Amino acid sequence: MKFEKFLLKEGIAFKEKVPLARYTTFKVGGPADYLVFPARRQYLLKVLDFLEEEDIAYFPLGGGSNLLVRDGGVRGVVLSFAGLKKIELEDGVLVAEAGVSLARLLSFCLEKGLSGLEFLAGVPATVGGAVVMNAGAFGKEIKDFLEGLLLYQGGELKYFRREELLFFYRGLSLPRGSLVVAAVFRLFSTSPKDVEAAISKFLKIRREKQPLSYPSAGSIFKNPSLAPAGFLIEAVGLKGMCRGGAEISQKHANFIVNKGGACAQDILALIEIAKERVFREFGIALEEEIRIVGEG
Ligand SMILES: Cc1cc2nc3c(=O)[nH]c(=O)nc-3n(C[C@H](O)[C@H](O)[C@H](O)COP(=O)(O)OP(=O)(O)OC[C@H]3O[C@@H](n4cnc5c(N)ncnc54)[C@H](O)[C@@H]3O)c2cc1C
Repeated sequence: MKFEKFLLKEGIAFKEKVPLARYTTFKVGGPADYLVFPARRQYLLKVLDFLEEEDIAYFPLGGGSNLLVRDGGVRGVVLSFAGLKKIELEDGVLVAEAGVSLARLLSFCLEKGLSGLEFLAGVPATVGGAVVMNAGAFGKEIKDFLEGLLLYQGGELKYFRREELLFFYRGLSLPRGSLVVAAVFRLFSTSPKDVEAAISKFLKIRREKQPLSYPSAGSIFKNPSLAPAGFLIEAVGLKGMCRGGAEISQKHANFIVNKGGACAQDILALIEIAKERVFREFGIALEEEIRIVGEG
């Protein structure tokens, strides 16, 4: 096929018919036709040019920590950002490419004594995915520490200041086909010891409250304004409900965990039950925070 020939010619790594379960924190999900790993920014741009020219559908993949991939998998191309992993500190601003994991970003912040993003400790995301989802916790959101974003839009790279971007609760409004290539953060200088203490504090709270020993995608639903989703799901008695290998967590009802061998269908069934029961009892329509993609 023309696409494979192109990838081989350019020396860009790819896998065919690879189960996406290996690339999501839920550990479920059917195969992608192609999973492509551009090793650097210029290769990413080459792949994107090709895909646009040939009108081939593609889907950007970060850490896979907010994704439920259906069991039939994803047609077309899944584009991994894992190769875009540069971090630089320039004149007091931190520039991180989209594929940098938050764990690595925070290690860098710790080493340099940069404070601000510690609330994201323990979130198994990449910079790109965290920005697109406007990841947040403990009353803070990633957008509050952003100076701007380098986006791929309409075939070229464009820089946008934060004021030009529309962030909202767990999201960023981007024109179709836009991708995050790098993020620029403005953080505060402090001592590495303080950064370390803050990271430890947030990790401790997560360990106490979240079911981290099983695969999951974090919170399934956005919190409605009236009450946290976990409270509502617990109130309708669904904590601990199982479907196949999936369970509405006993520890935190807004988490669904994969206790072993779950498929996407099991998780989708629990999501539907939770939505239906919460709506019936409270008249509140829960809305998914996770992104559900692929074919059933
Ligand atoms: C244990 C656990 C704890 C969590 N805690 C939190 C939390 O406290 N707060 C929170 O907000 N979330 C949390 N999450 C959810 C998840 O980590 C976040 O939503 C995160 O921002 C997703 O980032 P990702 O890189 O994994 O993106 P993915 O899940 O890979 O992708 C998410 C979306 O972003 C798109 N995307 C990814 N990269 C790019 C890019 N470069 N350009 C354009 N689009 C892109 C994808 O196509 C997809 O639509 C948690 C998840 C887990 C498993």
